[in-house]
Amino acid sequence: MLVYIAGSGAMGCRFGYQISKTNHQVILLDNWEDHIKAIQENGLKITGDVEETVKLPIMKPTEATTEADLIILFTKAMQLPQMLQDIKGIIGKETKVLCLLNGLGHADVIRQYIPEQKILMGVTIWTAGLKGPGHAHLEGEGGLHLQSMDPSNKDAGYQVAEMLTEAKLAATYDENVLPNIWRKACVNGTMNSTCALLDCTIGQVFASEYGLALVKEIIHEFVRVGIAEGVDLNEEEIVKYVMEISKKASHHYPSMHQDLVQNHRLTEIDYLNGAVAKKAEKFGFETPYCQMITQMIHAKESILGIK
Ligand code: NAD
Repeated sequence: MLVYIAGSGAMGCRFGYQISKTNHQVILLDNWEDHIKAIQENGLKITGDVEETVKLPIMKPTEATTEADLIILFTKAMQLPQMLQDIKGIIGKETKVLCLLNGLGHADVIRQYIPEQKILMGVTIWTAGLKGPGHAHLEGEGGLHLQSMDPSNKDAGYQVAEMLTEAKLAATYDENVLPNIWRKACVNGTMNSTCALLDCTIGQVFASEYGLALVKEIIHEFVRVGIAEGVDLNEEEIVKYVMEISKKASHHYPSMHQDLVQNHRLTEIDYLNGAVAKKAEKFGFETPYCQMITQMIHAKESILGIK
């Protein structure tokens, strides 16, 4: 397979690196000049569980010309439309496009650019970080679930899962991936926004009785909206899942804290709590916690002058 990674930041580098260890061909796509230059000149440096520098092709999306077998989307959510526009030239008859972004509502965006039978939706619990241009830091274990959006195209989904498992990314074809996508959104929707607003670790939010009450209200809103959308969700089970993750990641500052507080970058809030608040409007009910959290994060972005 010829695999392009569309958005080769932290997660894109993890997937690109691991796929490069198989017989499949991988090309990184990004538009961050310093990152491209560093990888072209010195290779992609990997530290963490493995220490290695690998030679990998990297270019801007608009420079890629050979049709892809698979494109894995790994931009931040608000960067997705531009990327979808820029990869049009490498989408051929047989190309499949896999979305592993965190958050909700991406399928609606992708459908505006790519026919449904090409789209695979998924969710991953792998993590990754960037230490600087051309340097990814990879630690821990993970896995991912994916599903073809068009049920008549399951075989393509199974093939992609097999290739990713060959790359030791532990992929599972899931006949109903939506509950998994929503469960992960509940993790991000509770931990990311609260830690960014309260400027603290996950453990600190969950150790506070007020913090925990906030988390439970957010989960309640996510589950109510998810169920209204027809997703099979169980609130009690999700609370348990989120609590378990919070224990494992208690010393961690989630990505929204890193983006907003540490690096003054735009956040994915509109695709987490913001998406839930927007969807709720459609069903005619209120989600006051998600609504206010979204407004607070946007207020913080504008106070910091982030565009
Ligand atoms: P990142 O910011 O490190 O990487 C995104 C990359 O996309 C950047 O290098 C950026 O330059 C590039 N990009 C954006 N728009 C582009 C465009 N139009 N053309 C070319 N390049 C473009 O982000 P990340 O941490 O890798 O996260 C990617 C997604 O995966 C997010 O939705 C995130 O929530 C999700 N996710 C992240 C982690 C993690 O541990 N980092 C874990 C699971 C899921």
